Amino acid sequence: MPRRPKPLIEQRTTRTALGLYGVLLVLPTLVFAWLHWRELVKTQEAEMAAVPEEAADGARRIWTSMQRKLDELVDAESQRPFTDYAEYVLPSEPIGDELRPQRSSLTRGKLPTGILAYFNFDRSIEGSPIDVFVGDDTYGRKGVPESFQPVIEEFRRQRPDPVRIAPLGPEGQPRAVPLSAVALTLGDGDLACLNSCSQYMIDRAMTVRVDPFRLQFFLDSEGRPRAVASRRVRATVGPVDVPADAPCLAPLIKGFHLQQGFLLDVQWLLRELPFDIASRVLDANQSLVRPDTSRTMDRLDSRFATFYPIEKLGFETFRPGDAKYGALDVEIDTSEIAARFRRQKRNLLAVAAMLVLTLATGMTLLYRSVDRELEQARRTQNFVAAVTHELRTPVSTIRLHGEMLLDGWIEDEEQRKEYYRRIVRETGRLSTLVENVLEKSRLKESVSEPVAADLSEVVRRLEGDLTSPTNPDDLAFELAPNLPPVLLTHEGVSGILSNLVENARKYAPVPPGGEPILVRTSWDGRRALLEVLDRGPGIPDEERERIFDAFYRVGSEATRTATGTGLGLHLVRLHAQAAGARVSVHPRPGGGSIFRIAWRPA
Ligand code: ADP
Repeated sequence: MPRRPKPLIEQRTTRTALGLYGVLLVLPTLVFAWLHWRELVKTQEAEMAAVPEEAADGARRIWTSMQRKLDELVDAESQRPFTDYAEYVLPSEPIGDELRPQRSSLTRGKLPTGILAYFNFDRSIEGSPIDVFVGDDTYGRKGVPESFQPVIEEFRRQRPDPVRIAPLGPEGQPRAVPLSAVALTLGDGDLACLNSCSQYMIDRAMTVRVDPFRLQFFLDSEGRPRAVASRRVRATVGPVDVPADAPCLAPLIKGFHLQQGFLLDVQWLLRELPFDIASRVLDANQSLVRPDTSRTMDRLDSRFATFYPIEKLGFETFRPGDAKYGALDVEIDTSEIAARFRRQKRNLLAVAAMLVLTLATGMTLLYRSVDRELEQARRTQNFVAAVTHELRTPVSTIRLHGEMLLDGWIEDEEQRKEYYRRIVRETGRLSTLVENVLEKSRLKESVSEPVAADLSEVVRRLEGDLTSPTNPDDLAFELAPNLPPVLLTHEGVSGILSNLVENARKYAPVPPGGEPILVRTSWDGRRALLEVLDRGPGIPDEERERIFDAFYRVGSEATRTATGTGLGLHLVRLHAQAAGARVSVHPRPGGGSIFRIAWRPA
C-alpha cells in the first residue's frame, strides 16, 4: 500500500528543519573545506613558482665554484716565470763561469689537473716554430702530438703579421730579467756559444713585460672545443754592444714578443669539474644534467635553469655561438612537491568526505526525528479523531434508542428488548474504549511482576473467556504440552490474547463453516511461542513494524470500515515488553496473518 503524501504543513516543518541544519552546519563546513582547499592550492603554486629561482641559485653556486677553481689554476700558472716555457732553464742563482742548465718545470713531472699542454712561440718572427710541452714528454721543435695540431693551426691562423716590438708603454710593469736566463729560453740552445759569452751576460738584463693570462674558447677547424689561456711577453734590451763572437745572443738584442700559455682540458672544465662541484653544492632534489640528455626525456615533474659556463667563466670567443657551447642544466625534481601536495589534497578530501558523511548522517537522523515527531503528532490527531468518532457513534445510538424508548414509540416487546440490548452493547463499546485508554496509561506507568509459569496452562485457563458464546466455532486452540516455564503475568497474556483475537474477529471474520482463528502455543527450540493465526487480508510489508505503534491504524479514518482506536496492538506490545517477550507479525502461508509473541525460557 503506497504511503500517503505528507500534508503541506509537515512538508514545511521538515523543510525548515533541514534548511536550518544546512545553514548552520553544512554551509560553514563547505566554506571551511573550500577555504582550506584554496589555501593548499595557493601554497603549492607559490612553492612551484619558487622552483625556477632555486634552480637558478643552484646554477649560480656551480659556476661561482667553477670560477674559483679556474682562478686558482690560472693564478698558479701566473706565478710560473715566463722563462720556464723552455726545455732548459738556468737555476735561479746567477751564473758562474759556466752555464749549468736544468730541465724546465714544464718538462718535469705530471701536468696539473685541467691542463693538456703548454705552448710558447715568438710572435715577432714570422714562421717561428711553436714549442709544445706536455709534462714528462717534451715535443718542442721535435714535433707536436697529433691532437695538438688543430690548435696550432688556429694559432697560426689568428696570428697577425710579424709584430713590431714597440718600446714598452708606461702602462706595463716591466721587470729586469738576467740576460742569461732569457738567452737560454729564447736562444737556439747553443750552450758552447752561450758559455763563451757568459761573462758578458753577467750584470746585463732585459726589460720584460708579462701580461696577465687571457682565456679564449673556440671550436677548431675540426669542430672540437678548445680552451686556451695565453699571455704576451714582450722584452727589449737597452743599447748594448753585442760581442761579435756571440751569434746566439743576436735574437735577444732586437727584443722579442712571445705568446705563451696553456691549453685547458675542456672535458675536465665542462664535465668533470661542474659535475664534481654539483655533487657537493646541490640539494638532494637538484641535479646537474646536460640539456641534450635531460630535455629529450619526458620529465613533466622537472624545472630547469640553464647556464653557459664559457660565458660565465669569462672566456673570449671568436665566433658567434661559441659562448653557448657546453650549456648545463640544473634540474629540480618537483615530483616530491607534487606528491606531498597530492597527499595533502587526498587527506583533505578524506576529511571532507568524512564530514559530508557525518553531516549526511546527521541530516538523515534529523529528518527521521522530525518525521517521527510529525508522525507522532499525526497519530495523536488520528487518535483524537478516532476517539471522537468512537464516542460519538455509541453516544448518539444510546441517546436515540433511549429517547425512542422514553417517548413510548416502541410498542413491540421484542423490539424494545432489542433496543435495550443495543444500548447495553454500545455502553460496552464505550467502556472498552475507556478501558483501553486507561490500560495504556497504566501499562506505561506500572505493571505487576512477571512470574515463571507454563504458557499453555495460562492460555488454557483463558479459553472460556475468549470463546464467543454466540459463535463458539470461530476459535480453535492448539496448546503444546510441557513447555519450559517462561516469565509472564496472567493479565498480560489475557490482554495480549483478547486484543489479538478481537482483531482477528474484526479484520478476518470467520465465515460460516470457514477455518477458525487458531490460538497456538509451541517451542521453536529456543523460545516459547504464543501465536494467533487468521485467514484475513494479512498485513502489508511496510506496515508490519508500525501497526504496533500507539494509535496507528492502517489507512485513514475516511477509508476504514472497521472501528477501532489504534491502541489494541500497541497494548499487545506493551504487555509483551513488560514480560520481556518480543512481538512480531508474519504472513501466513496460504493467506492471512500470524501474530507471534516469543518468550525466552525463564
Ligand atoms: P484498531 O484495531 O483499533 O484499529 P489495532 O492496534 O488493534 O487498532 O490494530 C492496528 C491496525 O492493524 C488495524 O487498524 C488494522 O488495520 C491492522 N490489523 C490488526 N489486526 C489485524 C488482522 N488480524 N488482520 C489484518 N489487519 C489487522
